[in-house]
Amino acid sequence: MTKYKLEYIWLDGYTPVPNLRSKTKIAAYEAFPTLEQLPMWGFDGSSTQQAEGRDSDCMLKPVAVFPDGARRNGALVMCEVMMPDGVTPHPSNTRATVLDDPGAWFGFEQEYFLYQDGRPLGFPADGYPAPQGRYYCGVGHAAVGDLARQIVEEHLDLCLEGGINHEGINAEVAKGQWEFQIFGKGSKRAADEVWVARYLLMRLCEKYGIDVEFHCKPVRGDWNGSGMHCNFSTEAMRSKGGKAYFEALMAAFHEHMEEHIAVYGPDNHLRLTGLHETQSIDKFTYGIADRGSSIRIPHSFVNAGHKGYLEDRRPNSQGDPYQIASRVLRTISQVPLP
Ligand code: ADP
Ligand code: MN
Ligand code: MN
Ligand code: MN
Repeated sequence: MTKYKLEYIWLDGYTPVPNLRSKTKIAAYEAFPTLEQLPMWGFDGSSTQQAEGRDSDCMLKPVAVFPDGARRNGALVMCEVMMPDGVTPHPSNTRATVLDDPGAWFGFEQEYFLYQDGRPLGFPADGYPAPQGRYYCGVGHAAVGDLARQIVEEHLDLCLEGGINHEGINAEVAKGQWEFQIFGKGSKRAADEVWVARYLLMRLCEKYGIDVEFHCKPVRGDWNGSGMHCNFSTEAMRSKGGKAYFEALMAAFHEHMEEHIAVYGPDNHLRLTGLHETQSIDKFTYGIADRGSSIRIPHSFVNAGHKGYLEDRRPNSQGDPYQIASRVLRTISQVPLP
């Protein structure tokens, strides 16, 4: 038997953006534990805005497990928060609201800033670095600085060791801004992985004295904000599709525009301005290869006869991928199948 360090990770009850919380449980197994072997656990919900002090127990239900490359015999255990009965989801448990759809595929493009001393990594103490232009997918010290790539690479390795399905990483348009993409099949998988990848990044940055800034518009002015584009497809979109179904989907997205924005991350009006590759927050548009629209239709989608995936560009970097996936699937489910 080996003693494993199980890091139980959950989302707290803060609004509008939950924080990641975690604590370690030691348990012995013959081999790396499967999800079924991981017990429920509890925590003090009065310290996380999830319970009153008088009746403070909340339960942690493991829902996904990943090897923890930063720890000997470590596992990262993503959890849902449950009421004391262990079966009723806690009101803060947004994962429990996601419609079960094994045929739904999601790809999230998580953008974020690395921050040091209260400003983006690489910004001078006073004023600004050179304006945007050379940073996106840039190379060389002037473009990316020295520490950022080291962190991004270490983070990538940790995610890959954990079995998180990264599809790529890139330096973004603003100095100190980066992106990783995660793709998953099944309505919850990619969202689970986004939260665990955020956790790994924040934990990794502790030792560098660097913070991860997920706010969607941390630097005002002519600097890009951070999004979390949500690429999505369902079985029907991929296999049957068609122009009529596509247009019905877009009509439903238009109709529910406000409900979508409500869960696409806070302060999105600062980012969705119509500039910096966004559509303004009070408009809903879609267009082929159009990065200034709410939903971008890839060329491949049209070429395949309106089949494949679409990119909702509105979700922001601080959004909760469970709520985003949940809303997207809810809207799609209101449209009759093709
Ligand atoms: P861009 O920056 O041009 O918008 P990226 O390459 O950063 O594009 O992201 C595209 C995303 O689309 C990737 O996360 C990818 O996994 C996702 N994706 C590709 N095919 C599908 C599909 N069929 N369903 C859902 N997502 C998809
Ligand atoms: Mn991208
Ligand atoms: Mn991007
Ligand atoms: Mn994109």
